[in-house]
Amino acid sequence: MMSNTMPQTEFPIPSGVFAQTVTLVRHYTDRLFKFRITRPASLRFRSGEFVMIGLPNAQKPVFRAYSVASPSWDDELEFYSIKVPDGPLTEHLQKIRAGDVVLMRKKPTGTLVNDALLPGKRLYMFSTGTGIAPFASLIRDPETYEKFEQVILTHTCRTRDELTYGHEVVATLRDDPLVGGFAAQLTHDCATTRQDSPVRGRITERIASGALFSDLGVPPIDPQTDRAMICGSMAMLRDTKKAMEGFGLREGTNNRPATFVVERAFVG
Ligand SMILES: Cc1cc2nc3c(=O)[nH]c(=O)nc-3n(C[C@H](O)[C@H](O)[C@H](O)COP(=O)(O)OP(=O)(O)OC[C@H]3O[C@@H](n4cnc5c(N)ncnc54)[C@H](O)[C@@H]3O)c2cc1C
Repeated sequence: MMSNTMPQTEFPIPSGVFAQTVTLVRHYTDRLFKFRITRPASLRFRSGEFVMIGLPNAQKPVFRAYSVASPSWDDELEFYSIKVPDGPLTEHLQKIRAGDVVLMRKKPTGTLVNDALLPGKRLYMFSTGTGIAPFASLIRDPETYEKFEQVILTHTCRTRDELTYGHEVVATLRDDPLVGGFAAQLTHDCATTRQDSPVRGRITERIASGALFSDLGVPPIDPQTDRAMICGSMAMLRDTKKAMEGFGLREGTNNRPATFVVERAFVG
């Protein structure tokens, strides 16, 4: 649903921001939820980018970075969010309902985009927690499958119920008329760190031991064929980045595409 109209709010909408209407909210756990909002008709973004999100609940609202979890062709915008107890934004954001207003700054940006990677055969998307959000966008974009023959999304969470959003995105993708035909190119690898599940362990440990590659039935990462995108905590980024460099991959940017890219899933 695209929108051009300005909804009514208690506080004035700051200049340079879009005011959009919430269309759907779904809670997964006491720490995680997704929400969808109307898409401003003038917004253009590349799958994998993030925007700044706020609420019209103060004269000077708090804005926080959020990866757009829906693909660039979608006529709504989807976000996947943490609920931080007493978090300046999310203590309020977790209470939104369909029909409420969410603010969004106008400029999308980010490094987890197909343009920042050189062409390759296999694309790894390494995510922990809400770090799956940019990949929920990219795995629903046909361009990703046109650029890479195989796409491997790894999602590591503490508990099984924290994997639900990822399962849901992959299941709906398989039934989608636009991208369903590419589903055979996608491998979804899920693991937990604090609860039993079919696969247990930190992604960095599974890379280091080689278990990841034997689980997936693929050879270890090769800079000739393999590319990677990484999104997680600072510690996860540091260790996964080191592992990629150990395989001979080089970090890229929008201006200088290379063989892997990273982005923080949150600050702190
Ligand atoms: C580039 C970028 C993209 C981001 N994309 C997303 C996204 O798609 N979804 C999302 O939920 N958050 C995302 N974040 C984090 C987001 O910007 C906020 O930090 C989060 O919404 C909490 O806001 P807050 O004001 O309630 O608490 P804050 O004051 O921002 O955070 C308080 C503390 O909570 C913890 N925390 C914050 N965010 C997370 C998280 N996502 N997972 C685990 N712990 C966290 C950290 O320890 C942080 O110090 C992103 C951050 C960056 C830098």
